[in-house]
Amino acid sequence: MVMKVDHIGIAVKSLEETLDFYTKVLGLELQDTEIVEEQKVKVAFLPIGDTELELLESTQDDGPIAKYIEKKGQGMQHIAFRVDDIEKAIQDMIDKGIRMIDEKPRYGAGGAKIAFCHPKSTNGVLVELCQRD
Ligand code: ZN
Repeated sequence: MVMKVDHIGIAVKSLEETLDFYTKVLGLELQDTEIVEEQKVKVAFLPIGDTELELLESTQDDGPIAKYIEKKGQGMQHIAFRVDDIEKAIQDMIDKGIRMIDEKPRYGAGGAKIAFCHPKSTNGVLVELCQRD
């Protein structure tokens, strides 16, 4: 059902302060940035091999990433697995007893269709399902 690691989401306080580590130290390339209004987040895309890192900076104090950092601090926030049919993948998760945060796909950065599984159902990891056409 899962094809590959689509991306890893990393919560940061400031993209500006964080990017140097990934670009100047690790030598990755900043491909693009995008603001996802609905999630109150600015995303920076850094491809690495056939996957990518997504650095997530909150655009507002009450956004999900701001709240996450407040609770847990900066760092790895979620892992996204690529699926070829997200509706089917969501149903499959539900059938297998996994609690979904999103029972319907929603818009994700980079034009993906995404849905999050509840970390209580995945031993503490925030898992995202991600379909790209
Ligand atoms: Zn993601």
